[in-house]
Amino acid sequence: MSNLLEGKTALVLGVANRWSLAHAIAEAFRREGAKLILTYQGDRQKLTVEELGAALGAARVLNCDVTNDEDLDRLTAALEEEGHVDTMVHSIAFANREDLARPFVETSRAGYLLAQEVSSYSLVAVARVVAPMMKEGGSIMTLTYLGATRVVTNYNVMGVAKAALESSVRYLAADLGPENIRVNAISAGPVKTLAAAGIGGFSSILGVVREKAPLRRAIETSEVGDTAAFLLSHAGRGITGEVIMVDAGYHIIGM
Ligand code: NAP
Repeated sequence: MSNLLEGKTALVLGVANRWSLAHAIAEAFRREGAKLILTYQGDRQKLTVEELGAALGAARVLNCDVTNDEDLDRLTAALEEEGHVDTMVHSIAFANREDLARPFVETSRAGYLLAQEVSSYSLVAVARVVAPMMKEGGSIMTLTYLGATRVVTNYNVMGVAKAALESSVRYLAADLGPENIRVNAISAGPVKTLAAAGIGGFSSILGVVREKAPLRRAIETSEVGDTAAFLLSHAGRGITGEVIMVDAGYHIIGM
């Protein structure tokens, strides 16, 4: 690919470190000529993401905790200064560690609501911020996982949050389609990241994928980045409301 995204401005939420799926997406966008705006959550991550942003050639690096309305207002103001945005990548999820370890039936009300707020509702909240900035149409995308539609050991409350997220993708696609704003999810196969470290037995999940997936391997984050670049590009213009599997084919296997 070369300069597929020339002239496009991309807002990418969820770069925590070099292993983040959002980092691979930002790398692919930059390689294809997009201008990058990155966000981080709180002062703890400021320096790391500013350094990663500098290495990626990001134009701006902004603070945004997606559960904080004041942060969302500040994000709105910063984007208004930019004038327009062509894409928003939502690569964010969180659940309490204990809710990813004990049986799903034990999930507390607070833990359930927290997972929904950070991992699902935030897509709706940020879509509302960016949609008015997508004056010539745009592409919103989020990251999901097979645990939304199948039971995956220890995925628990996050699986339920991902199911709501995937449904939100469809409702947002229907709402925003008349403005030529497309909304899609990329369902990534398992990758060792900080978020994945919270899932008990993650290494054995990776092992099963390597053994059973049609491609007999786990995915690389660059494959998610390239899919995101395709979705944002002219080549992806007919796709909306979709969940695109980037999982080396694992989801097709029954037994
Ligand atoms: P990651 O690097 O840990 O990224 C997760 C990001 O979410 C971090 O940047 C984290 O920021 C951010 N975040 C959490 N709460 C936030 C909040 N309130 N406000 C703003 N940001 C917040 O892990 P990842 O695997 O790349 O995860 C990215 C997305 O891909 C998630 O939706 C995940 O469910 C999905 N996904 C991952 C896999 C996998 O196997 N890794 C597979 C399929 C889908 P902090 O670090 O500052 O908390």
